[in-house]
Amino acid sequence: MIIIDGSEGEGGGQVVRNALALSLVTGQPFRMTNIRGRREKPGLMRQHLTAVEAACAIGGATCEGVAVGSLEIAFTPGRVVPGEYRFAVGTAGSTSLVLQTVLMPLLLADAPSRLVLEGGTHNMMAPPFEFIDRVFLPIVNRMGPQVSARLVRHGFFPRGGGRIEVEIAPAKLSPVDCIDRGPLQSVSGTALFAALPFNVAEREIKTARRILTDWPEDSFAVRQLSDEQGPGNALLLEAVFEHATEIVTGFGKLGVSAESLAKTAAHRMAGFLASDAFAGPYLADQLLLPFALAGGGSFTTVKPSQHALTARDIIERFTGERWVFEQQSSGCHLVRHA
Ligand code: ATP
Repeated sequence: MIIIDGSEGEGGGQVVRNALALSLVTGQPFRMTNIRGRREKPGLMRQHLTAVEAACAIGGATCEGVAVGSLEIAFTPGRVVPGEYRFAVGTAGSTSLVLQTVLMPLLLADAPSRLVLEGGTHNMMAPPFEFIDRVFLPIVNRMGPQVSARLVRHGFFPRGGGRIEVEIAPAKLSPVDCIDRGPLQSVSGTALFAALPFNVAEREIKTARRILTDWPEDSFAVRQLSDEQGPGNALLLEAVFEHATEIVTGFGKLGVSAESLAKTAAHRMAGFLASDAFAGPYLADQLLLPFALAGGGSFTTVKPSQHALTARDIIERFTGERWVFEQQSSGCHLVRHA
């Protein structure tokens, strides 16, 4: 049995999700103590609970200690059964993080699956739907499996109520090299909002334009969603390169001004554009799992985050394989199998 101290490294929910996915794929049980030990409110929250329940459902697994606030679980995987599943986070908890948990086991299964995930689709500290659809999945699809995602309804914190549908055609994951992102082909900035004043979106765009000065005026747009999907707001800044796409998101939040969130997002996008990395910091921590399961390949990224380093360590615990981050003369880091 693999024993993991959940407070090690970044010490948050991603440790739980990666351990669940790796356990299902490798068939090794694990016990995790100090779950989310580095968070202000440690233990499993509703969204992590849904991830554990989803892992049990698709993987014929059993898990001890599954409750809100639980600091310890013992997970024993069974056989992954592809098929149709619906998982509802119940709150605005992120649908994409539930997907992160079950996607690898299902895309390595022996038949297709279809998932309906309900909850939040645009949550702080999680990949928004567009990131999953246009940044992460295209790389996974390049590795063999074919996964497509559809946003049926937006879900913002605190109301939730969003829905995404995911079709998974499984295949072996083949190693790919994602080193050169290629030339920049297009850019866009979209201020999404629902049940909030129009000028919130306008102010976000005005601020982003002041920083991303070479982005054409017509690359920015406001997208108003129906009121019943709100209140909610996110500014999505997207850069499409020949071989990679990056989306930087600013999430609207009470107490954070439109100008402040747009400024942070635009500076982060400018930083990524100035680098020549293939993957931004979030994509990097999300790519480690599929790359590790492919058993090879490589990609370049910006300075590795604590999330990425922790994902690397959890992967090593389950697979015995080490991944390394090597700084290049350009300042980028090359991520590869040791
Ligand atoms: P906790 O509350 O314990 O921090 P969590 O389960 O909400 O945990 P994390 O463990 O912090 O979440 O993991 C968040 C995941 O979401 C990571 O994989 C990270 O790459 C991804 N992520 C966070 N913000 C973004 C973003 N703006 N765009 C894309 N991906 C994101």
